[in-house]
Amino acid sequence: MMNNLIKYRQELHQIPEVGHKEVKTTAYLLDVLAKLDSFEIEQPLQTGLVAFKKGTVGNRCIAFRADIDALPMEEKTNVSYASKHKGFMHACGHDIHMATLLGLAEELERNPCEEDVLLIFQPAEEGPGGAMPMIEAGVLERYMPDEIYALHVSPEYPVGTIATKPGTLFVSNSELFIDLYGKSSHGALPHEGNDMIIAGMNLVNQLQTIISRNINPSNCAVVTVGKFNAGTRLNIVTDHARIEGTLRVKDTSDMPIIKRRIKSMVEGVARSFEASFDLDFGASYSAVVNDSEKLENFYEKVKGIEDLEVVECEHTMASEDFGFFLERVPGVMFWLGASQGKEDIGLHHPEFLPEDKSIDYGVKVFRSLLS
Ligand SMILES: [Zn+2]
Ligand SMILES: [Zn+2]
Repeated sequence: MMNNLIKYRQELHQIPEVGHKEVKTTAYLLDVLAKLDSFEIEQPLQTGLVAFKKGTVGNRCIAFRADIDALPMEEKTNVSYASKHKGFMHACGHDIHMATLLGLAEELERNPCEEDVLLIFQPAEEGPGGAMPMIEAGVLERYMPDEIYALHVSPEYPVGTIATKPGTLFVSNSELFIDLYGKSSHGALPHEGNDMIIAGMNLVNQLQTIISRNINPSNCAVVTVGKFNAGTRLNIVTDHARIEGTLRVKDTSDMPIIKRRIKSMVEGVARSFEASFDLDFGASYSAVVNDSEKLENFYEKVKGIEDLEVVECEHTMASEDFGFFLERVPGVMFWLGASQGKEDIGLHHPEFLPEDKSIDYGVKVFRSLLS
């Protein structure tokens, strides 16, 4: 069994594609699943697919989700099965996620379970998001899963360890885009212009006070400005500044507070500098929140797996669009230990290469949740 799944992983690793462009990846998945008679395939979106198997009893439906997209970055692993798509890489381990679900499908073909099973191969987790498009395409309404599960490879835990926690595992996020518009002039005649570098600097400084002064210090939240573009030349007063950032909150009730304060600050800076502005909060992901009852059951089920260690982890300030599924269907997400033994190499690193051996544990954990 394992050799098969390692082959899938390594072949998928060679054809990384970014969100909603996973054409070869989808074709590969279709090819493997077409060999399994008991699965019905549906393609609700341009890329990605869902595979449904009727259970021997069929009184409940359990869903499993794998994300299938990669990142626009150059791979530096030097392995024989490194990316053949220059400038693209499976640097978040979604190739392992896919191989795990394919492994579960093959396992269920050999040993069917009582429950109906829905496998969701979802595009575009890294952005702009594929969970919501899948939901909007009616996947949950059509198959009505009672529970849903997903995993993500972790560079922090060794193969054979999984980690999760009650409540929030990944926090919710929002993008932030601000444009400030003033008036340009000669750098020697600043009084004739309206300098948006000065306005933007003031705004970025003010944004730093939201976490320290407006958010309960016991909570976890982030306001990061990751990009500030302004100006064209050393002797021109610029009429435009563009500020881009990311907002993260563990407690969802903090997001409206952060957005309200940002709106006030942008309006205030614009007024005080006599500028105009555009403010856009872009896309957002919901938090990944594990269902307490399903988590109890999860712990109970995985207990029986030989050589598997289960640990409790902290939440991460990263985000995951699996949260959109968990908002609608109770379930659990967990970290699958896949450490390559190099501490400084994490997710999205050009040398990130989670261990093939982790796939086996992923399949076993998923299978243990079924009869
Ligand atoms: Zn990622
Ligand atoms: Zn990922």
